[in-house]
Amino acid sequence: MKKDQLTSRRRALLAGAAALGAAGAAAGLFGLGAGEEAVRAPAPAAPGPPARRPLRPSAYRLQPLTGYGPPRAVPGRPPVRRRPLLSVSGIGRTMVLTFDDGPDPRYTPDILDTLRAYDVRAMFFVCGEMAAAHPHLLVRMADEGHVVGNHTWSHPLLTRLTGARIRTEMERTCDVIEDTYGERPRWFRAPYGAWNRAAFRIGAELGMEPLAWTVDTLDWTEPGTRTIVDRVADGAAPGVVVLSHDAGGDRSQSVRALRSYLPELLDAGYRITVPSRLQV
Ligand SMILES: [Zn+2]
Repeated sequence: MKKDQLTSRRRALLAGAAALGAAGAAAGLFGLGAGEEAVRAPAPAAPGPPARRPLRPSAYRLQPLTGYGPPRAVPGRPPVRRRPLLSVSGIGRTMVLTFDDGPDPRYTPDILDTLRAYDVRAMFFVCGEMAAAHPHLLVRMADEGHVVGNHTWSHPLLTRLTGARIRTEMERTCDVIEDTYGERPRWFRAPYGAWNRAAFRIGAELGMEPLAWTVDTLDWTEPGTRTIVDRVADGAAPGVVVLSHDAGGDRSQSVRALRSYLPELLDAGYRITVPSRLQV
């Protein structure tokens, strides 16, 4: 790319980011949408960069995993944050359920079955290598209205990686999500909740907001189904984001716990939904 092209693209990019930043601040940055409109937010009409060219080639780029097709647009570029979002704003008693590290065919289908039984949408922060291995599960998540976020390709500790490696981990995962789920992710979550400045910057460049959590069920420690249920019940409050896992080990407790706490939350008057980034 010629220098002048790069400069004009950067200028457009900055203009887009500034416009989005201003609109986001006015709108409270993001909030809870209602049902599937929130899940299937239309592509922003922001003057963002049209191409998804990497700043430098990566090994992944040389592999035709993503096939062919028109250039892909990066979702509207959010501001570069210094810390992740921990909760969501919404009207009334709203909560968000998130499931990390999958998809895993041993557990994810059961979780999807439970969510479907109660007509509830959730977020899945998937790892690219898991998504590539089980693409049908991302197709199902799309069909059933769930939101898929980026949890890196191989679940590394990002704070130990170079910026180039962080970009590869995140961008490959964006690509496989787009190829399987149907659109690029608008949210990312660092493995172990370990963000650094490069991760925030690269995530924003790839069009994603960093979402952490409010309540950690610690389900990966396999504390017992009842304990997981109790942790969700004890932490339930408006705007709370719950962290659980659908992969990375034996998650049968997580599967069973959802079957208990989801109807309990609904009976308590909570609306379980997914966040929507408000963009113009
Ligand atoms: Zn994880």
